[in-house]
Amino acid sequence: MTTSEAAAVSAATTTGEPVLSARNLVKHFPVRGGGLLRRRVGEIHAVCDVSFDIYEHETLGLVGESGCGKSTTARLLMNLHPATSGEVYFDGTSISSLSRKQMQRARRNMQIVFQDPYASLDPRMPVNEIVAEPLRIHGVYDADRVRQLLHTVGLRPEHGNRFPHEFSGGQRQRIGIARALALEPRLLVLDEPVSALDVSIQAGVLNLLEDLQAELGLSYLFVSHDLSVVRHVADRIAVMYLGKIVEFAPTERLFEAPAHPYTQALISAIPIPDPHKERSRQRIVITGDVPSPGSPPSGCRFRTRCPKFANQLSESDQKLCIEQEPELVDRGQGHPAACHFASSESLL
Ligand code: SF4
Repeated sequence: MTTSEAAAVSAATTTGEPVLSARNLVKHFPVRGGGLLRRRVGEIHAVCDVSFDIYEHETLGLVGESGCGKSTTARLLMNLHPATSGEVYFDGTSISSLSRKQMQRARRNMQIVFQDPYASLDPRMPVNEIVAEPLRIHGVYDADRVRQLLHTVGLRPEHGNRFPHEFSGGQRQRIGIARALALEPRLLVLDEPVSALDVSIQAGVLNLLEDLQAELGLSYLFVSHDLSVVRHVADRIAVMYLGKIVEFAPTERLFEAPAHPYTQALISAIPIPDPHKERSRQRIVITGDVPSPGSPPSGCRFRTRCPKFANQLSESDQKLCIEQEPELVDRGQGHPAACHFASSESLL
């Protein structure tokens, strides 16, 4: 099964046409040596054959450790990085074939909210101007619209005259969201939108995103390293490891019956509030660091850290993991996983 087919399988639980489709996205970054000429000495394979669909009013969660390629994938969707190969379709139209002007129009429908609201907001601009900027660029500036946007994200009109440094992290993220909403997009790419915020502030921003989705019918790609946060917001989840999607499932199904050893380890690391359950639960520990995307392991990319490979497989089974890269294979119920020995485990 190709990843495109797997994306379609995983979407089997949703209805209608996708708002956005990523098909076989690949992104390589050159690695340059020292010296004056800075010759190309290698390549980092940040994103390898990634495909998925996002549907109307849906939140797709994209999770994985830092450096797994999820933020690069988010940027490929927005055309902020050109893809090495693959396509992104919005409403069935490939965005890579659009002219600059057409792309500017398409951007109205797709906006991104970044992790660090302070870095993504111009510190010299008052909030009114930050929120108004996309409206001005598109020639649709309207002061009432700016006031309305501030109100929508829970800010008061007088906040519009202040500068980003005068706000808390949560309020700054609300400003970023107001700006992203200015042109009435249909899809928001949320790149670690609450990771830089205190836990006490995170819930407020997540609730705001949920309310906005219900009110405005938005679709979200929610990128995060934190599976417990994604669990609360996503309808479906794609798990990434070292540039590849290794498992795809509706959220409940992923938590009830994770099939890939990497997902199982991520889920087993989430604390359970009930102390009895917490004490008796099974923990799956992954050791070591993520290998370099410049030289991923042969066969299965997860094999150097896979607890199943290390503790449960015979030598001949391990040989398969070493020699053959597993493809995403459907496990039923819109649930493909990329592991030769995938088996659903109940961990919670
Ligand atoms: S294919 Fe082998 S190494 Fe890879 S996740 Fe499955 S068991 Fe582990």
